[in-house]
Amino acid sequence: DPLARIRNLSIVAHVDHGKSTLSDRILELTGAVDAREMREQYLDSMDIERERGITIKAQNVRVGWKGHTIHLIDTPGHVDFGYEVSRSLAACEGVVLLVDAAQGIEAQTLANAYQALEHDLEIVAALNKIDLPAADPDRYAAEIEKVLGVPADEILRISAKTGAGVAELLDAVCERIPPPKGEADAPLQGLIFDSYYDQYRGVVSAVRVFNGRLGSGARLRFMQAGRTHDVEEIGVRLPATTPVASLGPGEVGYLIAGIKDVAEARSGETVTEASRPAPEPLAGYQDPKPMVFCGLYPIDGDEFAALREALEKLRLNDASVTYQPETSGALGFGFRCGFLGLLHMEIVRERLEREFDLSLIATAPSVEYRAHLTDGGTVEVHNPSEMPPPQKLESIEEPYLQATILSPTEYTGTLMDLCQSRRGEMVRMEYLGPERLELVYRIPLAEVVMDFFDALKSRTKGYASLDYEPAGWETAELVKIDVLLNGVPVDAFSAIVHKSQAQEYGRRMTEKLRELIPRQMFDVPIQAAVGGRIIARETVKAKRKDVLSKCYGGDITRKRKLLEKQKEGKKRMKNIGRVEVPQEAFIQALRLE
Ligand code: GDP
Ligand code: MG
Repeated sequence: DPLARIRNLSIVAHVDHGKSTLSDRILELTGAVDAREMREQYLDSMDIERERGITIKAQNVRVGWKGHTIHLIDTPGHVDFGYEVSRSLAACEGVVLLVDAAQGIEAQTLANAYQALEHDLEIVAALNKIDLPAADPDRYAAEIEKVLGVPADEILRISAKTGAGVAELLDAVCERIPPPKGEADAPLQGLIFDSYYDQYRGVVSAVRVFNGRLGSGARLRFMQAGRTHDVEEIGVRLPATTPVASLGPGEVGYLIAGIKDVAEARSGETVTEASRPAPEPLAGYQDPKPMVFCGLYPIDGDEFAALREALEKLRLNDASVTYQPETSGALGFGFRCGFLGLLHMEIVRERLEREFDLSLIATAPSVEYRAHLTDGGTVEVHNPSEMPPPQKLESIEEPYLQATILSPTEYTGTLMDLCQSRRGEMVRMEYLGPERLELVYRIPLAEVVMDFFDALKSRTKGYASLDYEPAGWETAELVKIDVLLNGVPVDAFSAIVHKSQAQEYGRRMTEKLRELIPRQMFDVPIQAAVGGRIIARETVKAKRKDVLSKCYGGDITRKRKLLEKQKEGKKRMKNIGRVEVPQEAFIQALRLE
C-alpha cells in the first residue's frame, strides 16, 4: 500500500513556542536542507515574517524519514490567523502540538488542540525548549495531562534549538499518526489549501490529493469556481520546488495551471479531472469572516488603480482580506477593507506598501454593526458614514467575542479590571494548576480590536495570553461621533463608539487636530458632535503674518522660492470648509496610539 508510509502533519503551538525552529531542525535532520544553507526559520520566507519573527503564511515541505514520506505544514500561531491554521489542518491526519517547557499551556495551545480534535486528528504532544534552565517539563506534562487529557508519559521532551529529542519525535510521528486514506482509481479530488500569486508563473497553489491521481498532463476542473485549466506543472517542495509527474492520494504538493485571475484558485477549492469529474467537491472551508474594517486610501490619488490591482493579488494569497471601493470627501477614492484582526490589518497594509510600492492612509479601525431601523429594516454598518440618522434608528447591535485568557494567578485582579473597563462580563474562572488561571469573558469585539491585546500584555508583563472566538451580537448604546472643521464634517474622522466613551473620543480627536492643523487666515473651530450636539471643541487661532513677511527685505529669488514651495505644499492640501488641511494631518490624526 503506497499510502502506508505517508504522514501528513502540521506543527501547531502558541506563538513563540518553537514551531518554526522545530521545522528548521527537521529540515536539517532529514537532510532536506544542508547545514551550510540553513538559516533560521527557513520556511518563513516573507520579509515581514523574518523581521517580526512570526509565521504568517503556512508553508509546506516534503521530507523523508526512515522510509516514510512526511509532509510538514508549518502554521502561523497568532490569534488573527486561526483561519490559516484550520486550512492547514484539513490537509493533515495529525498534529505535533508543541508546548514551551518553561511556559506551559497558553491560550492558543488550547485553541489549537480543540481545532485538532474537531478535525479528528491524532495529537502528538511535545514539550519544547527543555534546554532552558527555567524549563520544568514534569510540571507542564502534568498540566497537559490534566487540561488536554494526553497521558504525561506519552508527551515527548525536545529542544528544537539543540535538536535533542527531535529524532524521537519523528519516530513518534511515524508510529502514531495514521497514514492517509484514499483511492488511486477513483476520480480525482484534490483540495487547494493555499494559493499565492507569483509574478512569473501566475497562481501557485498548495494541493492535497484525497482521491485519484493528479497528473502533469491533466485538464482540471475547479469545481467551485466552475472553470477549466490545463496543468502546467505539479511538484513538491523539498523545500526547493521540484516538478513531479503526478501526485497520488495522500500526497501534498504544488500546482501551477496558468491561472491569471486571482479569484479562480481560492483556498477550499476542489480540483478534479475535466474528463472524469468527481461527483462531489470535498467539504470546503468556511469563508473566514472579517472582524475589523478600515478604509485604505492612496496618499497619491493617481495610485487608486494600482491599489485595486495590489488588493486583487494580495487577496489570492490571503483569502481572508475583503475590499470594496469607497469614497471619502476628505481622502478621495479608496477601499473599505475587512481583516481578521488588528495584526492582520497591520500586516496587510505593510505588505501593500512594501510589495506593491504604495503609500497609504488607513482610517481608524472599526467593527461591523447591525442597525435596526424604525421602519423594520436592518442595515449592516461597516463604516461610520453608513450609520442611519438617529431619528431612523430603532436599535443597534454589536458583535461579541468569547475571550479566553490564560495567566499566572497574580494578575487576576488587574485582568478583571481591564475586562470590566472594556465592558466585559465574566463567564467563567478556573484554575489550571496552583498558579495558573483561565478567565473567560464575553466582551464587545470593538473593545478588543482597539488595543486590548497590548493592554493585556503590558499589565501582565507579557505573561497572559489571549484567544477568542465570535460569540453573537448584543444591543448596545452606540453613537456616531462626527468631527467638524469650521462647521463641516470630515468623514475620515467619524467613529462609532459606546455612549460612555463618546466624550473621551471627542476630546482626544479635537485636541490632536488642533495641534496638527496649521494656522489659517481666520480662527478655525474644531468640534466633535453627536447628533447635533457639540461634545468637545478646540480652536486653531488665526495666524498673524504671511510667509513673505518673514523674509522682509530679503532678496527676490528667495521670496520666489518660498512662494514656489508654498504652492507645492498646497497641492498636498485638502480644502475642507475653507480650511487647508495638509495630507500629513490626516495621516497623523488617524494613527493609533
Ligand atoms: P514559533 O512562533 O512557534 O514559530 O516560534 P519560533 O520557532 O520562531 O521560536 C520562538 C523563539 O524561541 C525563538 O527565539 C527561538 O530561537 C526560540 N526557541 C525555539 N525553540 C527553542 C528551544 O528548544 N530552546 C531554546 N532555548 N529556544 C528555542
Ligand atoms: Mg514561526
